[in-house]
Amino acid sequence: MTEAGTLKLDVLAALCKRRGFIFPNSEIYGGINGFWDYGPLGSELKRNIREAWWQDVVRRRDDVVGIDTAIIMHPKVWEASGHVAGFADPMVDCKSCKKRYRADNLCEDQGQELVRTDTGFVLPAGISCPACGSKDLTEPRAFNLMFESNTGPVKDDSSRVYLRPETAQGIFVQFDNVLATARQKIPFGIAQVGKAFRNEINPRNYTFRSREFEQMELEFFIKPGTDTEWHKYWVEERLKWYTSIGLPSSSLHLDVHPKEKLAHYASACTDVMYDFPFGRQELEGIAARGCFDLTQHAKFSGKPLNYFDQETNENFVPHVIEPSAGVDRIALALLCNAYREEWVPKGKDDSGSAGAILAEPGKPVPEAHEPRTVMRFHPRVAPVKVAVFPLLKNKPELVAKARGIFEDLRTDWSCFWDVTGAIGRRYRRQDEAGTPYCVTVDFDTLSADTVTVRDRDSMKQERIAVSELHDLMRERLR
Ligand code: ATP
Repeated sequence: MTEAGTLKLDVLAALCKRRGFIFPNSEIYGGINGFWDYGPLGSELKRNIREAWWQDVVRRRDDVVGIDTAIIMHPKVWEASGHVAGFADPMVDCKSCKKRYRADNLCEDQGQELVRTDTGFVLPAGISCPACGSKDLTEPRAFNLMFESNTGPVKDDSSRVYLRPETAQGIFVQFDNVLATARQKIPFGIAQVGKAFRNEINPRNYTFRSREFEQMELEFFIKPGTDTEWHKYWVEERLKWYTSIGLPSSSLHLDVHPKEKLAHYASACTDVMYDFPFGRQELEGIAARGCFDLTQHAKFSGKPLNYFDQETNENFVPHVIEPSAGVDRIALALLCNAYREEWVPKGKDDSGSAGAILAEPGKPVPEAHEPRTVMRFHPRVAPVKVAVFPLLKNKPELVAKARGIFEDLRTDWSCFWDVTGAIGRRYRRQDEAGTPYCVTVDFDTLSADTVTVRDRDSMKQERIAVSELHDLMRERLR
C-alpha cells in the first residue's frame, strides 16, 4: 500500500484526520474549499520541515541570512513584480453545468496541452467537462490569483492591497536594508519562510493545491555571468536536502524547463518533482531569474538596488537564483511516503520486521496476523520522537519512574506520554503517529534500572540501562 499510485488519498486523509495531522478548515461549518488546518501531529511535522530547511539553508551556512516580512506590502510591489498584470491562470467554464476549471490542468488531464497564442490561450479540440461530459466550454480567459483586501476604513481603489502570492518579493524590496546590516558580500542569499495566498481556480489533490499555503524561499544573489554554475549548485543542494528528510531518490525527479517555456528574464528553471499517488508533481522550483526583480523594483520605487564590489570597483545589479519550496507540499509528500499498511503476527509485538508482511489491498488478513498502519517518517521530521509508557497506570512507583524518564527526554525531543490501554495498543497508536521509538517502564526498571526501547519499523525491543537512554536516543535520532 505504499507504492506510489496504490495509496489512495482518501485513505491517507482518513488517517490524517483520525490521528490529528490534517483537518478540513472550519469543518463544523462544512469546511471551505482550498483551506486546511494542521492538528497536533501535523503542526509538529510542518515545524520540523521548516526547522530542517532553516537549519540547512540559513544557520549552517555563512552566506545566507534570514528575514521575516509582512504578508501585506505596498501595492506597487505587485505592479513592479508583474503580478497585478500577469499573475493569472487561464480559466474555462462549462456552459452546460457551470463548473469552472483551470484550462491548462483540464487539457493535461485529458492528455492534451493548452494552446498558447500571442494574445492568450485556446482550448484544443475535443476537451470536455469532467463533471457532465459536455464539450460546450467557454474560451479560456485570464483569472488573477491574488486575494484582495483594503487597508483602513475606506474601501475603494486607493486602499486596495493584496495578500502576498509569494514570499519572495519581501526579500527583494528589503535587499538594500539587509545588505547594509548583514555584512554580506555577493554571492549571498536572503531566506524567508511564511504564508502565501493564491485564489486557485481548482484547489485539488488534498492539500497539494491550496489557497493558503506556506513557502520557504531563498533568493541567492550572484554576480552576473555566474548564473549557470550557481543554478546547477542549488539544484544539486536542494535535491540532496529532500533525501535528508527521508524522501527516497527513486521518487524524486528533476524537470528541466525547455528554454522556450522560460519567462523572458529567466535563463533556467528546474523543478524538483515527487511521485505522488496522483502523479509526478512539483515540490519546488529553482529558477535563475537574472536581475529582473531588483531592476523592476528600482524602476518602480526610484531607488537604485545595486551592489558595489569593493574588490573590483564594479557596480552592478545582482542576478538571482531562486529555490522556492512549499511546506504543505513537502508535508504531503512525507505523509504519502511514510504511509504503510502491514500484516503482523498477532500478539507478538517484539517479533521484528521479519514477521511483518506488506498488506495487499483487498485481500483478507492472513491467519494469526493482524493489520498495522505505520507512518515511517525519517526521525528528522517525525512529529513525536519518543513515547514513554509506564506498563501499568495504577502502580504509582512505575508511573513516577516513567514520568522522570519522560521529563528528562522531553528536554531535548518532542515526546509523548501515554498511560492508557494495553501496551500493544499504545505501540499501534504511536505507529500511526510515526513515532520512531517507544520506551516502556516495567517492574525490571524498578529493580534493574533498565527500560525496553521498541523500534517502530522493525518492532524489535531491546533492554537498555536508563543511564544510557539519553545517549542512545541522541545517536539514533540524529
Ligand atoms: P503550480 O504550477 O503547481 O501552480 P507554481 O509553479 O506556480 O506551481 P511557484 O510559483 O513556483 O509554483 O511556487 C513555488 C512553490 O510554492 C511550489 O513549488 C509549491 O511547492 C508551492 N506552491 C505554489 N502554489 C501552491 C498552492 N496553491 N498550494 C500549495 N503549495 C503551493
